[in-house]
Amino acid sequence: MQACSGSRKEALVLLNSFLPKAGKSYAKNRNFDLGSGQHKHVSQLSAFIKRRVITEEEVLRKVLSAHSLNAAGKFIDEIFWRTYFKGWLESRPHIWAQYCTDVQHLTHDLQTQSGLRDRWAAACLGETGIDCFDAWAKELAETGYLHNHARMWFASIWVYTLQLPWQLGADFFLRHLLDGDAASNTLSWRWVVGLHSVGKTYLARAENIQRFTNGRFAPKGLAQVAPPLNDTAHTTRPKTIDPPNRYLDGHKTGFLLHSEDLNIAHLTHHSDCIASAVYRPIDTDTMLVSNPKLLEFNNATLDAAAKHWKPNLLNCSDVDTLEAILSWALENKLEQIVTPYAPVGSTSQMLEKMKSLLGNHGIQLTQVMRAYDIVSWPYATKGFFKFREKIPKILTSLSMI
Ligand SMILES: Cc1cc2nc3c(=O)[nH]c(=O)nc-3n(C[C@H](O)[C@H](O)[C@H](O)COP(=O)(O)OP(=O)(O)OC[C@H]3O[C@@H](n4cnc5c(N)ncnc54)[C@H](O)[C@@H]3O)c2cc1C
Repeated sequence: MQACSGSRKEALVLLNSFLPKAGKSYAKNRNFDLGSGQHKHVSQLSAFIKRRVITEEEVLRKVLSAHSLNAAGKFIDEIFWRTYFKGWLESRPHIWAQYCTDVQHLTHDLQTQSGLRDRWAAACLGETGIDCFDAWAKELAETGYLHNHARMWFASIWVYTLQLPWQLGADFFLRHLLDGDAASNTLSWRWVVGLHSVGKTYLARAENIQRFTNGRFAPKGLAQVAPPLNDTAHTTRPKTIDPPNRYLDGHKTGFLLHSEDLNIAHLTHHSDCIASAVYRPIDTDTMLVSNPKLLEFNNATLDAAAKHWKPNLLNCSDVDTLEAILSWALENKLEQIVTPYAPVGSTSQMLEKMKSLLGNHGIQLTQVMRAYDIVSWPYATKGFFKFREKIPKILTSLSMI
């Protein structure tokens, strides 16, 4: 298992031990997938960064304290790939909504089309006969992690060799990856099939797999072409990222902790909080069942965060549904609920519904955005390489360089 206790302490230990490798070593070795339990060239921090147990900003500051911007350039780029995807999806929430609709329809197809169901089940169970693919499917189910290169190969084989819909592959990842993330996952799968960098696709090649797995695999029979797919989402103008409601001083406030951002240091100065709650959805991300290890890890990170921030979480209870949040707010006679901003994904969909439900009772929902997101996301308008040009500007405006 990549990560166990889900605590901030564990994340910091992982970061500190990776730090010496974040410079030239990462640039040279990061593309090698050495196999389950051997991912020593990469940080394996993603499950923590996804939940902001440690934030992108903290990781960048640490890395820049140990390496120059030039030496750690590759690693810094990768952190910013995440930031870029988050910002890109934030101004195009319909891409996520369309993906969710597609998965719903395809889940229905799985129940009615036995041919599709059999091929999908063989892929998910790692029983396709393609040795590398089967090993990655098993590694994912067992550990909740895959190396980035394996994710690219896996996605390409899923679509172009096994001829399965990309949305079911993205859903399989989201139900198993401990770092499963609406933006990074959906947009990476779209990138593989030519829907992100429009027309540019990713073809998994046997020689490339052999080279970057140090000869562990030499697959035969992989697809030789990767034509771009048609999009199910329509093209609309990107929306501007709305500034959230302002915090209401002097109002009876409740604090809601959720797993999109478990580091609440930037919120602890608000002194009007009289109650707090931890949001623990049962399993809302997808229609099919998630890996129990993912649910276990989610709960572990929530437990660890609730423990870490205990002095700031007064009168704390657990809530698992919209209705439970409303009851908690009414019982405590709250006038405002303050919570970290949730980017596009299932938590943000829940908060959107909650906002209008609470509004009917005169309660304001205040989502607090981080300076890092406010500064970076607006630059995610086109491709990553345009965004990348802004990295020095972003780092300067956050006083990181
Ligand atoms: C098909 C596919 C699906 C993916 N799904 C997810 C997902 O659901 N969640 C997720 O966090 N990443 C996803 N990625 C991106 C990437 O594979 C993982 O972030 C990375 O492998 C995590 O391992 P690490 O922490 O050891 O990364 P490192 O190489 O150590 O990188 C450090 C951090 O940078 C970020 N990062 C690195 N590479 C990328 C990338 N290509 N895109 C976005 N962020 C990146 C992550 O936060 C990562 O923890 C996906 C990639 C592909 C090709």
